[in-house]
Amino acid sequence: MTRLTPRAQLGIPNSQPAAAECDICKALVHQRQTAEARGDWSKVADINIELRNHPHKGRQ
Ligand SMILES: [Zn+2]
Repeated sequence: MTRLTPRAQLGIPNSQPAAAECDICKALVHQRQTAEARGDWSKVADINIELRNHPHKGRQ
């Protein structure tokens, strides 16, 4: 009996930012995956905001 939580209903975007270019974003994406695995959606939302706001120092 498996009961999966439908993620679409939670309003969490599936699109992942291009994190490979930035070490910090890479780490954030990893943290987000861990939070997702725990079902910690408020943490996921926090990390999504951090990712969106990250200035990406490596880029110019
Ligand atoms: Zn970044």
